[in-house]
Amino acid sequence: MTKAVDEYYLLKGKLEEITWALEGSCNDIDCDRYMYKELLKKKYKPVLEHHFSCLSSLKREKEAVMRLLSMKKFKKFRHKLCTICKKKIDTLGEDYTIVSFTRPSEFKGQKVYQYKGISVHKKCKRKVLTPEGWEKT
Ligand SMILES: [Zn+2]
Ligand SMILES: [Zn+2]
Repeated sequence: MTKAVDEYYLLKGKLEEITWALEGSCNDIDCDRYMYKELLKKKYKPVLEHHFSCLSSLKREKEAVMRLLSMKKFKKFRHKLCTICKKKIDTLGEDYTIVSFTRPSEFKGQKVYQYKGISVHKKCKRKVLTPEGWEKT
C-alpha cells in the first residue's frame, strides 16, 4: 500500500515534468523541442513538431494529473500558509509563487550559494522584504 504522501510527490513530480514540457523543453525524443537534443548532436533528427504533436496530449495529461491531485486525501499536502498574510495558499494553484533569495557562502573552502525560498500568494509577493545579507534572484 502506498502512502498518500508518496503518491502526492510522485504525481507532483509528474506535473512538474509536464509543465516543463509544455513550456518548451519536451521529454519526447522525437520532438523538435526535445530537452537533450544538444547532447545528441548530429545523429538527432526530430520527426515531430512540438506545437502540433505534443501540446494537446500534454495538456490532456496535465488535466488528468491535476484531477488526481484534487482528491481530498492530498489536500493537506497541497496547502501551505502564506508567509505574508498567513492565509492558506494552494501550492498547485495560480496564486502561488516562491520568492527566492541567495547569498554567497563557503563550503569546505569552496565558494557556494545558499538558497532560500519564501512561499507566498502572487498578490503578496511585493510585500516580501529581502532578508539582510541575501539577494533576490
Ligand atoms: Zn514536444
Ligand atoms: Zn498571502
